[in-house]
Amino acid sequence: MAQELLSIDEARDRTLAAAQRLSAETIPISEALDRVLAEGISAAGNVPPFACAAMDGYALIDGPGDRRLSVVAESRAGAPSQHTVLDGEAVRISTGAAVPPGATAVVRQEDTSAADGTVLVQTAIVPGQNIREAGEDMRAGASVLAAGVRLGAAELGAAVAAGAGQLSVTRRPRVAVLPTGDELLAPGAPLGPGQIHNSNGPMLSALAAHAGAAPQPPAQLPDDADATEAGLAAALEAADVVIVSGGVSVGPHDHVKPALQRLGVTEIFWGVALQPGKPTWFGTKDGTLVFGLPGNPVSAVVTFSLFVAPALASLLGTPAPVPPHPNAVLAADVRSNPAREQAVRVRLQTSGATVTATTTGAQDSHIVTSLLGADALALIPPSPEPCRAGTEVRLAHLAR
Ligand code: AMP
Ligand code: MG
Repeated sequence: MAQELLSIDEARDRTLAAAQRLSAETIPISEALDRVLAEGISAAGNVPPFACAAMDGYALIDGPGDRRLSVVAESRAGAPSQHTVLDGEAVRISTGAAVPPGATAVVRQEDTSAADGTVLVQTAIVPGQNIREAGEDMRAGASVLAAGVRLGAAELGAAVAAGAGQLSVTRRPRVAVLPTGDELLAPGAPLGPGQIHNSNGPMLSALAAHAGAAPQPPAQLPDDADATEAGLAAALEAADVVIVSGGVSVGPHDHVKPALQRLGVTEIFWGVALQPGKPTWFGTKDGTLVFGLPGNPVSAVVTFSLFVAPALASLLGTPAPVPPHPNAVLAADVRSNPAREQAVRVRLQTSGATVTATTTGAQDSHIVTSLLGADALALIPPSPEPCRAGTEVRLAHLAR
């Protein structure tokens, strides 16, 4: 490769500069898991909406212990009592049921004994005891979730409690995954001479889905100029992000770059000072992002993690994914590359304040098993010398 290689950070900045947030759509909360909020949510009313019992027991007026009260009504969850509690009275109450008017506290059932329509309150009861006040969780109008938040179970629960039924979320980026190569066979197909299974198709689709995108079924392209161009043209029509794997190097059967050029996709970079992942290509056409990732499965995952995942986050309007810790200390020596930053798959172990990174075995770009059990990428700076055990290195997000 004759041209200057970009640093990882410079290449990522260039992809982010091209990735503008997509439009929003409104969907029911039941479909919103893992989507990204396009607009923040405020509480429509107080949560809880009314003062309610924190315990099963009796609503009453606070006072000393050893009092016998008449049980005059019941307040159940969903069926509040309208009775106004007077001195000498108690209202049977269940957890979550509205505290009836006049009552200032709830005595828990364990501190009472009931007989013949009366209840003996054994303990002293202070004002507010066992009462959840209205708005204790959320005050009406308070901000609950900010735009850009990814909706997990807790966020969905909070959104529902806040009164939301529909949510404004960023449209999912449509992703076309295009593995290239005459040698590729579908998963499970018996291999003929020189053939291998297409790992990258399912893997890149899975990574895109986990990153919040909507991957289309991968369309495999042969090592043929016309077929490559036709496949790319269709993908550019249908997708916000096109991810090609393989065929982007300088071999006689690498048809991706010339096809993209013929289709009018503007090259933004080709070549990153990264191992694995040097022949990574990135370009755009009319807002569509096109990534040409190297064909080796590890290179494809590493370059997806470093460049595609942050771009998808930017399209969704959510922060880029981060590794579990910013830095870690190498457990053993790691071979360096003199000219390129290395992205090594590591397992992380935390002991006190120290995070230790251990490589996942052989790190060559075809060793797909080096991805198994990995927690992050450790970035090894370029150097003629090995990076020694005990050196603190930067970690990067490993997409999964
Ligand atoms: P390429 O970038 O097309 O030269 O491919 C580099 C290496 O990755 C070659 O050994 C390919 O056979 C392999 N490779 C390319 N695409 C895939 C794929 N989809 N799944 C698994 N290996 C692949
Ligand atoms: Mg190839």
